[in-house]
Amino acid sequence: MHADLLLHPTWILPVDPADSCLVEHSLAIADGRILALLPSGQAREQIQAERVLDLPGHVLIPGLVNAHTHAAMTLMRGLADDLPLMTWLNDHIWPAERRWVDPDFVLAGTRLAVLEMLRGGVTCFNDMYFFPAVTAQAVAEAGQRAVVGMIVLDFPSRFAESAEDYVALGLQMHDRYRDHPLIRVAFAPHSPYAVSDGPLTRVRTLADELEVPIHVHLHETQDEIVQSLQAHGERPFARLDRLGLVGPGLVAIHMTQLEDDEIARLAEAGGHVVHCPESNLKLASGFCPVARLLEAGVNVAIGTDGAASNNDLNLLGEMRTAALLAKGVARSASAVPAAAALRMATLSGARAFGLDEEIGSLEPGKAADVVAVDLGDSHTQPIYSPVSQLVYAAGRHQVRHVWVAGRQLIRDGQPLTLDAASIIAEARLWAERIAAGEGRMLGRG
Ligand SMILES: [Zn+2]
Repeated sequence: MHADLLLHPTWILPVDPADSCLVEHSLAIADGRILALLPSGQAREQIQAERVLDLPGHVLIPGLVNAHTHAAMTLMRGLADDLPLMTWLNDHIWPAERRWVDPDFVLAGTRLAVLEMLRGGVTCFNDMYFFPAVTAQAVAEAGQRAVVGMIVLDFPSRFAESAEDYVALGLQMHDRYRDHPLIRVAFAPHSPYAVSDGPLTRVRTLADELEVPIHVHLHETQDEIVQSLQAHGERPFARLDRLGLVGPGLVAIHMTQLEDDEIARLAEAGGHVVHCPESNLKLASGFCPVARLLEAGVNVAIGTDGAASNNDLNLLGEMRTAALLAKGVARSASAVPAAAALRMATLSGARAFGLDEEIGSLEPGKAADVVAVDLGDSHTQPIYSPVSQLVYAAGRHQVRHVWVAGRQLIRDGQPLTLDAASIIAEARLWAERIAAGEGRMLGRG
């Protein structure tokens, strides 16, 4: 058998079948896809590879899927911290966005995010932001994979004048990236409180026609529920259900406020949840009942949310927080074991966006989105269980190599398709501009 690349790690965590850990196995890649996983002795005999990489002490995992972020918001990292959601949004983030967010901002911010995520083993992310075609451009030029959101809001921005305008601009991007191998699109109405019934219904109709998911912030805080009861006489989830948005295409972000009947309805409809534990903790939004959702059979993925509310795009760390928080919330140490957390950060994220046939696990035939993590570091020694070390002890500096569709994007921790120095310089220029405009002091260094 001929392969382009043959990897010999010490362990492979394929994610599917669940809980399996292959020892002394190798992974072969050909034409951007996983050709085979087989015992290393057999691989060395049977596979002629263009390139062979020995990875002693490394574990191979599927590329991580960051199921919810606002990539360009890296440029607002640390701009406004330690505030409740509505104060943070209304008094800080939305005014700053109205003033600063243009295509150049989105390009610079997304490049910084892509660099951070790739170096942390994130091979695919789902994004919601203004100027999504610019986001797609930054992702495509880096060779990463993304689901880019067709954002919809009632209020105007520099990107669009009206809800109708947002939809029209989103559809243009959809057409432009229709056949791109790495870019998919989804509808991204911001939230029930920022989008009225008319545009939500239009989004539902178009999503059905185009067969794309709808991803939306939902039940993020108790406040959101109270406001909806006052304005509409119903909870936001009930409102979306009435408008026909609750179905297998629904990807609900946050879901910290959930009644039993809502969990049952979501499970029955085949909807998905993206859990963003660190954003929820930082904004004191509440706790997503992850163990109860999983028990009910709901697919739960993990997202970092934007860098203005986290403040990093570190999915390895987010996976650990998700596993720990789930135990605290469920008052059960067996809630979300390490292997379940890894699954949520990979295959479940892929499934939420209909990509589980293509990515999310290391299986022959799937795209070769692969990450090698070096567990030889003192922080992760000794090793009884690779998955336990990965989830509970490893840091993202241990991500050594990253491939997307068989193309190596990170080698020895360094990017091959991005110029890190110029990306950082550009981000600093933006920070100087924003800090001067907002009358803020800028930290030096
Ligand atoms: Zn968000």
